[in-house]
Amino acid sequence: MNITIIGTGYVGLVTGACLADLGNNVFCLDLDQTKIDLLTGGGVPIYEPGLKEIIERNVEVGRLTFSTDIAASVAHGSVQFIAVGTPPDEDGSADLQYVLAAARNIGRYMTDFKVVVDKSTVPVGTAGKVSAAIKAELAQRAVAAGFSVISNPEFLKEGAAVEDFTRPDRIVLGADGDEAGQHALATMRQLYAPFNRNHERTRVMDVKSAEFTKYAANAMLATRISFMNELANLADKVGADIELVRQGIGSDPRIGYSFLYAGTGYGGSCFPKDVQAIVRTAREHGQALRVLEAVEAVNNDQKYVLANKIMAQFGPSLTGRTFALWGLAFKPNTDDMRDAPSRVVIKALLRAGASIVAHDPAAVQETQRVLALDLADAPGLLVNISYAGKPMDALTGADALIIMTEWKAYRSPNLAAMKAAMKSPIVFDGRNLFEPQLMAANGFQYAGIGRNTH
Ligand code: NAD
Repeated sequence: MNITIIGTGYVGLVTGACLADLGNNVFCLDLDQTKIDLLTGGGVPIYEPGLKEIIERNVEVGRLTFSTDIAASVAHGSVQFIAVGTPPDEDGSADLQYVLAAARNIGRYMTDFKVVVDKSTVPVGTAGKVSAAIKAELAQRAVAAGFSVISNPEFLKEGAAVEDFTRPDRIVLGADGDEAGQHALATMRQLYAPFNRNHERTRVMDVKSAEFTKYAANAMLATRISFMNELANLADKVGADIELVRQGIGSDPRIGYSFLYAGTGYGGSCFPKDVQAIVRTAREHGQALRVLEAVEAVNNDQKYVLANKIMAQFGPSLTGRTFALWGLAFKPNTDDMRDAPSRVVIKALLRAGASIVAHDPAAVQETQRVLALDLADAPGLLVNISYAGKPMDALTGADALIIMTEWKAYRSPNLAAMKAAMKSPIVFDGRNLFEPQLMAANGFQYAGIGRNTH
């Protein structure tokens, strides 16, 4: 099948590469010339396990191309995936300007039937707006080409995007009941047939329910995280171990073990903005989503928990102190720094006068870019942050180690070597990587999240 992917970011690039790998001819469009130049030159703009190899082998056989040519992109695909960003607007609602610009471009150039797929996460009702934008362009040109908009939200996780895309738990397809909608649905079923060989994973529903499903899923996961973070803070106060509590409740099949890890708050490009967006959608309809409003508030506070513990230990002024910081990305196996809790901690420590030596296997370059933006409102602030090539190198002379991301490389360190390298053996672990008893037995003062048993 000829497929066009509009927007070559985390979702678009993974979708395009994986669909090409199944034998489709995929045209990836992006308006960012630098990104397209990098891709056509053999580079990959994001870090995602396995992705580079898939791109290389499909580019080599001519099934995957990258371009900024809008007219050519519309001409290429009978299926047009819209996978552009939907960042939060100033009021928290999803900013649809990129989605609607992509829709207008389709309408501006299409001459035959197109299946238009909303893969971006978009509020309920967006398919109608996409449809109207295309229709307006067609009317302006007096062209009568048909189309139908399918809602096909993406559930991949960064860090495991290729694996998730190629082995999805479910494929949600929202389609209209009219003839064009059913024709578009049949096309999508054919495209996704290779994923359903083992068993049927497709959930077909109306368009609005499909759009809603994506927000409901992310809102549920964010709720579990904030729920556990709030309980972890109480566990710290009463002397219980949240990790034992997690196992105690997770063993109930109605609850399960996943997404119950206490930490420094959720980040990334999806949970924060999607929770905000559904809260906003509800307000527009005169309803308050009180649970989700609390989920967001708890998460915002949780990002400061580690910085507060550090200040409680060393006092409000950290001038002359050096902190090793392991992990910058919002989660392991990605270089994504969007809404990463590490940004909050770094800013708080720098404001208090500290020096930081950070390590991350993939996100250093991205950190440098986003920190320049974060600190733009703090002119004169001494940006005392440097980056170590290896985790152990960050520890030399450190007053304490702060752990922000649970990369595998941090899980089994040589504790004796760590202790010898540091000025004082203190660990603030925002991801609960270690057992408090083990750390104490090895001479460390150890503060996790919700593990302060006494
Ligand atoms: P991204 O910011 O990484 O990529 C978006 C790309 O779209 C950018 O490269 C941008 O230049 C390009 N773009 C913008 N307007 C364009 C246009 N008119 N034509 C062509 N290209 C255009 O975004 P992402 O993380 O891939 O997210 C895309 C969507 O998928 C969002 O709605 C997001 O919520 C959703 N989503 C993301 C994830 C994730 O883990 N990142 C998971 C599921 C769903």
